This record gives sequence, C-alpha cells and structure tokens, in this order.
Amino acid sequence: MSSPTSPEHFDVIIVGAGLSGIGAGVHLQRNCPGKRYAVLEARAEIGGTWDLFRYPGIRSDSDMYTLGYIFKPWKEAKAIADGPSILKYVRETAREHGVDRHIRFNHRVVRAAWSTTDAAWTVEIESGKDSQRTQLTCHFLLMCSGYYNYTEGYSPQFRGSDRFKGRIVHPQKWAPDIDYAGKRVVVIGSGATAVTLVPEMAKTAAHVTMLQRSPTYVISLPARDRIANGLRKLLPAKVAYAMVRWKNVSFGMLFFWLSRHTPNVIKKLILGGVRRELGADYTNRHFTPSYNPWDQRLCLVPDNDLFASIKTQRASVVTDQIETFTEHGIQLKSGAELPAEVIVTATGLNLQLLGGMQLAVDGVPIDFSKTLNYKGMMFSSVPNFASVFGYTNASWTLKADLTCAYVCRLMNYMDSHGYRQCTPRNRDPQQSEQPFIDFSSGYVQRSIAQLPKQGARAPWRLYQNYVLDVLTLRFGKVTDEAMEFSK
Ligand SMILES: Cc1cc2nc3c(=O)[nH]c(=O)nc-3n(C[C@H](O)[C@H](O)[C@H](O)COP(=O)(O)OP(=O)(O)OC[C@H]3O[C@@H](n4cnc5c(N)ncnc54)[C@H](O)[C@@H]3O)c2cc1C
Repeated sequence: MSSPTSPEHFDVIIVGAGLSGIGAGVHLQRNCPGKRYAVLEARAEIGGTWDLFRYPGIRSDSDMYTLGYIFKPWKEAKAIADGPSILKYVRETAREHGVDRHIRFNHRVVRAAWSTTDAAWTVEIESGKDSQRTQLTCHFLLMCSGYYNYTEGYSPQFRGSDRFKGRIVHPQKWAPDIDYAGKRVVVIGSGATAVTLVPEMAKTAAHVTMLQRSPTYVISLPARDRIANGLRKLLPAKVAYAMVRWKNVSFGMLFFWLSRHTPNVIKKLILGGVRRELGADYTNRHFTPSYNPWDQRLCLVPDNDLFASIKTQRASVVTDQIETFTEHGIQLKSGAELPAEVIVTATGLNLQLLGGMQLAVDGVPIDFSKTLNYKGMMFSSVPNFASVFGYTNASWTLKADLTCAYVCRLMNYMDSHGYRQCTPRNRDPQQSEQPFIDFSSGYVQRSIAQLPKQGARAPWRLYQNYVLDVLTLRFGKVTDEAMEFSK
C-alpha cells in the first residue's frame, strides 16, 4: 500500500453513515471535541438500512424510544415507525449536529492495515464510478458498517424459477415499477420482512399468500404508545423520552428473561394473542413454532395488521415446502399449487461483518473467525479498532450508543496517559470459545463459522443485557487485565 504523497490523516475514521455511523459522529463531537474525524460511506446517501430498503410498508420492528438515539428524543406519535420517518430522523440528526459535513460519500473501504511503528491504520478506499483507489490514515478505526451484505440478499435457488412468467423480487432489491395492484402475490418467508409486506400489499393486491416452511412467533403491539404520548404532553421531551426508554427497556428485558426461564408461560401468552384473532385451528397450523420464544427473533406486528388482513381474507398463510416454481405460480410438496403473478422472496439477508473489508495487523492478515470479541466491540489482538454491533434481543441503538460512548472514553483515557495503542489480548488459555450469536435462525447459522467468537467470561462474553452493559460500559473502568496499552 504505497502512495506518492502521504495520505490525509484523521484521528478517527468511522466506516458507514447509517444509524450507527451518524450516532458515532455525534458521540465523538460531544465527548472528544478536539478529534478530527471522517465518515466514509460506500453509498451516495445517509441512512444505511433505512435508505436501502424500499419495500411496501417498510417499518421498524422495535419501538423508536429504544431504536432512537439516547441524545435525541423520538417525537413522532407512532412508536413502531415507518422507514421514511426513521430515515428522516437519521438525516435530521446528521444535519443538526453537523455530522453530514464530515461524510465522504461513494467511499467504500476495502482494506485497512495497522502499523505498530506508526500507530496508525492505513485505510484503502474505492471511490467514484471508476472505483479509483485512494488511501487515508487514522489513529482509531470505528466500524459502523452494519451486519449484512448490501449487494445481495439471501435468495435460495428455487427449482423452476426461470419458468415463472410473472415477476420475482427480493425485498432488498425492491423497485418502484413493481406493480402488484389487483394481482395475486406470494410472499416466501415468515420473518420480520414477510409479516411487514403481507398486510401492506394485501391493501391493493388481489390476494397475498404468505408461504412459510415453518411458523414464527408473532406478537401484536399498539403502533402508538399511549403512555409515551401522554407523558410527552406533561413533561419536557427529554424527560419523557428517558422515562419511556427505560419503561420499554425494562419490559423487553423482563419478556426476554421470562422467555428463557419460563418458555411455556410466554408461549401460552403469545399463542393466546394469535388465537383470539385467528382461532385455535389457524394458530396451531401456522403460528405455533417448534422452538421456544426467543430461540429465534420474534416478529412484532403493529395493531394486529397481519391478523386483520387474514381475517378479511385479503391474505392467508400456507405452511408447506416448495417443490418447484411453475409458469403461473408455485407447486408445493403437498401437491397444492399457489397461483401468482408476483413472487416476493422474503428469504433474508446475507450476514456480513465489517463491511466485507480485509484487515491486517503489521502485515499479518486477520481472520476474524479466529478472534475473540472484547466487550461486544473490539477483537483480540486487533489494536485501535472497534465495531458497533447491536443487540439481538433489543433495539440496535441501545448498544450502539453505549459502544460509541465507551470508545470515546477509551480514546480520552489513552490521550490523558500518552498511550498510542490499545489492544485486547486474551491471556487466558482456558477461555472456552462460544458462538458470537446463540440464535438458531437460518441467517445466523449460515454464517456462524465466519463470525468472531465470544468467551465464557467478561470481558470476552456477550451478555446481551442492556442494564449490565450500562454498568460496565458507561460506568466501568476502561482498564482491565485483558486490555494492553502501549506508548
Ligand atoms: C428491514 C430491516 C428492519 C430492521 N428493523 C430493526 C428494528 O426495528 N430494530 C432494530 O433494533 N434493528 C432493526 N434492524 C437492524 C438494523 O440494521 C439496525 O437497527 C440499524 O439500522 C443498523 O444501523 P447501522 O448504521 O449499524 O448499519 P446499516 O444501517 O446497515 O448501515 C451501514 C452503513 O455502512 C455502509 N458500509 C458498509 N460497508 C462499508 C464499507 N466497506 N465502506 C464504506 N461504507 C460501508 C453501508 O453502505 C451503510 O450505509 C433492521 C434491519 C433491516 C434490514
């Protein structure tokens, strides 16, 4: 990696201008005001997920009081918000805090190499239409590149798909010219995307069938949080926001704890909710998974919208397997045929950490599957490098905020002690390695081998517990036996 002139240098480079990258910029400006930083974004827009996904009905599946930033109250009436409102919120944050002035768009980071001699990362970037290669250097690299591949969603090869005469679309590649009004639609999948698409498309389609291989737990919650909207009228926005945030965090944590410790009680509760809407038979056939709640991500629907579209027969659920696509629809293993003009493959994402980048430390390439994750953000033997990765059982931003604030504290500690390098080192040979995520979902299992590992004990263990993380990341020390500081 050589360059005729020396590359421009920053204290911090943030990779990604999505929800996390914009938040990271704000944390940095507030907590480390003297630091010079740049945000490198591969796409031409701010927003990441909330700009990329354009399918009908795109919305959050967690509440915005916890998906919103700790420093910017969510003020809209709906707690379960639509994609455009979330995108507006992220853009507004970038503008209000001037983070937008630090973003370099169409800058894809492809490689980063750490030099201990220089105590710096040299970051290699592809930019512009002709993918021109340039370099920048930085002292700390903060990855806010999300968790999935932007180029392509997960699309299994379905037999006979080339015979189908209608249109096949993956939600990650939704195009404005997709016309489904008055047409028969099959949505393949039963995850968050499928349960969002079905009621929305059912508003104008002739009929929408959600075709699933196996059921998922689906819970309905009100789209509007009455307590939140009431508190906002009585209290200053920031106070009301903090109270509702803690209310929702506590509820989410209690629900998760009960799911893990008394799964049968929670199972009964969830299935009872569906049964009230759709009756026992429909619930048993299509909404009763074989696993326990929270062994995979739960699906949230606002105001029973999915169940309402099924009740009015604008939509239906089929639990079966695909034998082959035909010219006019899908032939199922049971022998039944689903006629369709539009097929949506809501079959998921391809997990990808660190934006597909290659990393090397002092000339040695890093294989992240061989690293241990430190405090849910750094990696064993990788210096001055952190990555934002949200919770699997709560809103992403809860962890993103904690991670960014912690990285700022770490950098301030280094500055005040004259350290140039911080490197987590696993010195415990007995530390057993465990999977990074303990979900049985397909998208996790497909990629688990490439992900870093977690250890059995702190600071190498991912507890997926916000309260514990507040205590350790916000109030705990940045020094411990695993973190090596050097000058
Ligand atoms: C449809 C959908 C709905 C979701 N709903 C929720 C929800 O309700 N609640 C929740 O908690 N989570 C949800 N998630 C997870 C969601 O992705 C996070 O909540 C959050 O948006 C992640 O923000 P991020 O900035 O970390 O990542 P992203 O939004 O993925 O943004 C990453 C950014 O980094 C850029 N980038 C990536 N690699 C590079 C590179 N090499 N060089 C330069 N730039 C790069 C990308 O272009 C992108 O702009 C949802 C995800 C999806 C796909």
